[in-house]
Amino acid sequence: MKFGHITLGQRILFGSGEAARNVKDEIARIGAKRVMCIAGGAEMDIAKSVMSLAEVALWHSDVVQHVPLEIAEKAREAAGSSNIDLIVCVGGGSTTGLAKAVALTSGIPVVAVPTTYAGSEATNVWGLTENATKTTGVDDRVLPATVIYDAALTMSLPGSLSVASGLNALAHCVDSLWAPRADPINAALASEAIKALAQGLLRIAQDPSDMAGRENTLYGAYIAAVAFASAGSGLHHKICHVLGGTFNMPHAETHATVLPYVVALNAPASADASSRLVAALRAGLSKESGDQAAHSDASEALELLIELKERLGAPSNLQEYGFKESEVEEATRRVLLAVPESNPAVATEEVVASLLTAACLGRDPRQLLEEVHA
Ligand code: NAD
Repeated sequence: MKFGHITLGQRILFGSGEAARNVKDEIARIGAKRVMCIAGGAEMDIAKSVMSLAEVALWHSDVVQHVPLEIAEKAREAAGSSNIDLIVCVGGGSTTGLAKAVALTSGIPVVAVPTTYAGSEATNVWGLTENATKTTGVDDRVLPATVIYDAALTMSLPGSLSVASGLNALAHCVDSLWAPRADPINAALASEAIKALAQGLLRIAQDPSDMAGRENTLYGAYIAAVAFASAGSGLHHKICHVLGGTFNMPHAETHATVLPYVVALNAPASADASSRLVAALRAGLSKESGDQAAHSDASEALELLIELKERLGAPSNLQEYGFKESEVEEATRRVLLAVPESNPAVATEEVVASLLTAACLGRDPRQLLEEVHA
C-alpha cells in the first residue's frame, strides 16, 4: 500500500435545529465585524431564520446555477464596497458556489450553511461559467472555514429534488473510486457515505419529513464530498460539467441520471470499485449477502444501483430536462477533452457517444454494459 493523501482542514458543526446558534457562535469565534449573507431567492426565508441571532451588514440574493462570471463579479463588487470580512452562505451548491467565487479573488473566509446534499461546502473546488463553458479549479481559499449542518433546513427541499440531490452526493462517492487521486482513505469514506445515503434517501422517499432520513442523508452527503474533494473528478463529473456548463442542464438531476451509465462503463473494468459498490449498496439497501450470486460484482453493482434508483423514483433520462439527442456529438467532443487518465475503462468517441445517447433517451444501462463489454 502506497499513497499520498491530503485531509482538508474544516470545522464541522452538525445538529438539527442548531444552525442559528452555531452561526452566531462561529461569527463571534472568527471575530468578524461585517458579515455578508448570500442566499438565493428560494433560500432567503431559510437564511433569515439562520441569521436571526446575527448581525448582517449585507444581504445578497443574486444567485444563478453554475455561477456565471458576471454574477460572480457583481457579488465580488458588493463584498468589496461593503468592506465585508466574513461571508455566510445559506443554500444549495449554487449559493455556496457564489460564495466561493467571492472568496477566490478576495480571500474573505466563508461559513457555509448547506440546504441541499450537493456537498460543495466540503470541497476546495470552485466553478465559474463563461461563454457556455464551465471551468473548475482547486484553491484552498474557497474551502469554507466552517460548515454548519442542520438537517431541519433541508425539510423544505421537495422529495424529488431531495432524491436527485442525494444521488448527486452518491455520485461523488462512486466517481471517487476511479478518480485521479483515488486512495484507500477516500474509498473507505465513499463506502460509508454510499450506505448512509442509500439508507437516508429510502426514508426520505417514503416520507420527506423523516428527520432521521434527512440527518443520515446530510451526514452521507458531507462524507461523500470529503471523498470527492480528496480523490478529484472522475469521468462522471467531467460528463456532468459539460452537460451543466454547456447545455445548462440542472445539476442534481443530471448527476442522478448519468450515474448508472458511468457505472455500466467503468465497473467491469475495476474489480475493486465493483466489490466496494456491491458491499456498500447491499448495506444501504439492507440486503443479505449472496442474494445475487449469479451476477459478477460489476453487474451486481449496476443492478443494485438501478434498484435503488427505482425505489427512489429517481430521474432516468436527460431528455426530460432539455438535453437533445442532436447535442450528443458536441457533448462527446467536449467530454473527450476531459476524460481522466485514471478512468478504468477505455472511453473512446464511440463509447462516450453511446453513453450519452443512452442517458439522453433513458435506455436500460444494462444494455450499455453489454454493448461496451461484449
Ligand atoms: P442549487 O443550489 O441550484 O439548488 C437547487 C434548487 O433548490 C434551487 O432552486 C434552490 O433555490 C432550491 N433549494 C435549495 N435548498 C432548498 C431548500 N432547503 N428548500 C427548498 N428549496 C431549496 O442546486 P445544488 O444541486 O444544491 O447545487 C448545484 C450547483 O453546485 C452546481 O452549480 C454545481 O456545479 C455546484 N457544486 C459544486 C461542487 C464543488 O465541489 N464545487 C460540488 C457539488 C455541487
